[in-house]
This record gives sequence, C-alpha cells and structure tokens, in this order.
Amino acid sequence: MPQADLIIENARLLTMDPAYPRAEAIALAGQQIFAVGSRAEVAAAVGPGVRRLDAGGASVLPGFIDSHIHLFTGGAQLASLSVAGLSGFDAIAAAIRQRDAEQPGEGLLLVEQAAYAMFGAGEPIDRHLLDRILPGRPLALFASDHHTMWANTPALAAAGVLNGLATAPGSEVVMAPDGLASGELVEFEAFAPLTALTPTGGREMLGLLGREPAAAPTAAQRAVDRAILRQGLAYCASLGITGFHNMDGNLYQLELLGEIEAAGELTVRGRVPFRLLPGMGAAALDEAVERRRRWHSDLLTADFVKIFMDGVIESYTAHMLDDYCGRPGLRGSSFFEPAEFDAICVAADRLGFQIAVHAIGDAAVRRTLDGYEAARRANGPRDSRHRIEHIEILAPAELPRFAELGVLASMQPTHAPGGAYPIEPILSMIGRERMKLGYAWQTLRETGARLVFASDWPVAPLDPLLGIRTAVMRGPIHDGAPQERQSLDDAIAGFTRDGAYAAFAEDRQGVLKPGALADVVILSGDIEAARPEDIDTMKVAATICGGRLTYERGAA
Ligand SMILES: [Zn+2]
Repeated sequence: MPQADLIIENARLLTMDPAYPRAEAIALAGQQIFAVGSRAEVAAAVGPGVRRLDAGGASVLPGFIDSHIHLFTGGAQLASLSVAGLSGFDAIAAAIRQRDAEQPGEGLLLVEQAAYAMFGAGEPIDRHLLDRILPGRPLALFASDHHTMWANTPALAAAGVLNGLATAPGSEVVMAPDGLASGELVEFEAFAPLTALTPTGGREMLGLLGREPAAAPTAAQRAVDRAILRQGLAYCASLGITGFHNMDGNLYQLELLGEIEAAGELTVRGRVPFRLLPGMGAAALDEAVERRRRWHSDLLTADFVKIFMDGVIESYTAHMLDDYCGRPGLRGSSFFEPAEFDAICVAADRLGFQIAVHAIGDAAVRRTLDGYEAARRANGPRDSRHRIEHIEILAPAELPRFAELGVLASMQPTHAPGGAYPIEPILSMIGRERMKLGYAWQTLRETGARLVFASDWPVAPLDPLLGIRTAVMRGPIHDGAPQERQSLDDAIAGFTRDGAYAAFAEDRQGVLKPGALADVVILSGDIEAARPEDIDTMKVAATICGGRLTYERGAA
C-alpha cells in the first residue's frame, strides 16, 4: 500500500466528482490522490506522522485545466508592452514612448493586446497614425486576437512589405491608394515578416502556422525559447493551472517541451496538436501519427489535430451565412471547401484523432459540423470528442447538432462582448437578431451539448478565476437575448472536469478522488462564499501537479 505523504485539511473541497461532491480533507501519495473524505476519515486512512497542511477553510479544487491556450506566444508576451485596457491616441502613444525610452534601440518595438477600436470606433489605423507615435523606430501593434497587426512605416520597410506582399487568400498586406502598404496586416502570412524582426525571430508564432523554423535554431536560440516556455509554465502554475491544451503546434515546440520534460521541469501537463492547413491533404496526417507515437506521457501528449476554418468577426474574416450588417456582399469565407474538409475529417477520425476546429462565424460552424458528420457517416460512431473552438455566432439549425454528434463546444468566457470586451463593434457588425445566438453558452448547454471553458491566452487573460467570474456574471448580450449565465458549478467544471473530458482523461484528471492524479489547487478563500464579482480577487495559495508543489504564494 502506498504511503501518503501530505494531507490537506480544514479545506472546503469541491471534488467535481458527482458521486462525492464535497469533502474536508485530501491525502496525496506520490503522484496520486490517496484519500478524500471527512477529516476523521482521511486521518484514519493514512495513519499518524504524515505532513499536514491547513487550508484555513479555503476552497480546494482539482487543478485548473485551460483547454485552449498558446503557451509559446503567451510566454513570449510576458515581456512585451501590453496596452490592454488602454484607448485613445494620447494614452497609447504615451505608453509606447515610455517603453521606447526605457528600452531604447533600433529593433522592432512590439506592442500586444491592442483593441481594434483603440483609437476610437471606426477610426482607421494606418502607418501614418503610428508614425506620429514613433517615427524613427519600427513599431508594430498586435490585435489582442493575433489576427491583425498594425505597423508604422519603418517597420513595414524593415520587414520588406512596404511595397506589398503576395500572400495566400485569407491573408493580406492591405494596400493604400498611394500604392504602398497601409500599415494593416491581416492574418499570419501578412505579418510573419514583421514577427521575424523580434528577438525570438517570431519562432513562437510558427506553431500557429504549423511551420518549422526555416533554419535549425542554434543551441543558444533553443535555450532562449525553452526559457520562454518555462516562464509560460510558471505563469500557468501561479494561476492554479495543472493542465493545458495548446492550440498551435509544430515539431519544434514539441521537442522543446520534451526537453523540458526530460529535465524534470514540465510543471503543467500539456497537449500539443498537429496543425493541419488547407492544401496539405490527408497524407500529412502520417506526421501526426508519428508525433502521437513519440509523445504520450502523463505530462506531454500530441494526440489531436487543430484546424482553422475561418478568421474573426472584428476583421470581417469570420465566415457568416449572411452578409455583415451594412456591408452588402461581405460575409467572410472558410479556409476549406466542404469536400476537402470532409475528407480530412474522415481520415483524421479514422486514425483515432480528436479534431479541434477554430470556427467563429455561423457558416464556419456549420461547415465544421458537416465535416464531423461526414466522419461519423464514413467511420461509424465512436467516442471521438471532436471539438469546435469559439463558436461565437451560431445559426438555430446547428443547436441540436452538438449533442447529436457528441461535439464539444469549446468556449472562452472572457471573449463574450459586454464582459471584458466592449459590445461594439461586434453588435453592429452582426446585428441584434443574429446576436441572440452569440456566445450562447447556456443555450447550447440546454440542448445537451457538452461545454469546455478556456482563456485563449494570450488573446485574453489566462486567470481561470477571471474566466469563472465572467461566466457566472454573464448577462444577456442585449435585452432581447437569452440569459446565458453559468452556474458556479458549471463554470468551475468548465475549467476542471470538462477540460479533463476534452483530453480523454476524466478518470484521472479534473477530479479529486482516490487514484486520480494529484493535481490540486488551493485558493486563498472560499469560492462559494465569495460574491460573484469578487471571485477573481481571490488568489491561488498553492498549486500541486502530480503531487509536486509547482507554485506557492509568497514563496520565492
Ligand atoms: Zn486560440
């Protein structure tokens, strides 16, 4: 019998185990949970002499699982200037000039978390405007969703795109009437020449494209990149996260994480997908099979396929069934034709892969569900747990299909406008009628669909407690729309049990029960007693992953 080595007691355990939802104490033995129960039960199960930790009456939960993040870009951004929450020319210019003064140089000054309406709703953002902020140094601002970048003239010139760039459809170096680039760069292909100018050479972005570094990184570059990933992991652990599903991936990133694991420093369990792009064809999945074979530990797996179906609403690249309001003929497009996408789904499903597709517009969601349906028709029903990421706008006809097809709705509470983000320009672009099924968490849940929650960090803040707060504080998107508010239990499940289910790991993660992995978060207070608006003012007191203390508040 394994010997318990830690008891956490005087705790309010929310086990997320429906058979035994609450407890007072938990004992850990090595990498596993040994006992859960009342204080007396756990004490009797382990005997005397075991180290005890008093939770002070605070909530103890399964370690948080963030089912949609971008660890490498997030880690890289921890050192960048963020203009989150800033708006107006003067405020943004002041922040950028201050950073330029603090960290002077000739290199690209990269700014993160810029809002599409940062200079005012409908105010065009072009290189001339940015030249007024910083005329003499390359400057680029990333939209918080990483689907658009804006650059000044020196940055466009340094990247070699001032005179334009031929890109694949869906990406665009937007040109101005004067025949030169306007400064707006839409989607990856267009801004890749800019990210190549950063200290990492943009290597953290390559996984979004499913590409490998053009030249093999040097040992020094690999060390820089591993350090960035470790910083990202430490940040996850500081917020109570013990598991993440990465939503970009390439071989390089897997190798780096594998090296971190081999060094005993992988402090959060990670899943990394194979990125499948239009035109690759099903033969590309051979590589996915190979990666799945190489990485399959409890800490690191490469067991799913990630696909982008469309872009985002803000840049009119989300694929809609009908025109955007006030833009006749404009409804975005999908990156895959139905036949190609169906064939990919059939092939990936046959190989036993879970598929995760970014689909934001109602047309993209429909096409994705059609592909999953084609896979089921061809291969027969199986426990595939295919998922759709974001699902911002949904046509009524799609509502029952999630439950019918067993498709997971992967939603990001902080993405819903009206919460962390302003309601405009989204509401005006989509219109009130279609917005009734915008970010329709509860409406989907009530159809029997399974949901899973995530942050999409660094697109939105990583803190799961902020995600939970946003989910339980949600109101109708406008006064004629459904409520969509989440219960506290559903919100917590979205960041614990449901994330484990999405990883086929619900028997050993996302739950506090004997035999499960010892992934535990101890909060600073009682999450059930907190007012909803105060949930994210709570802190993480300690994070334990696989029985190992990965974060302790106040510790060096
Ligand atoms: Zn994402």
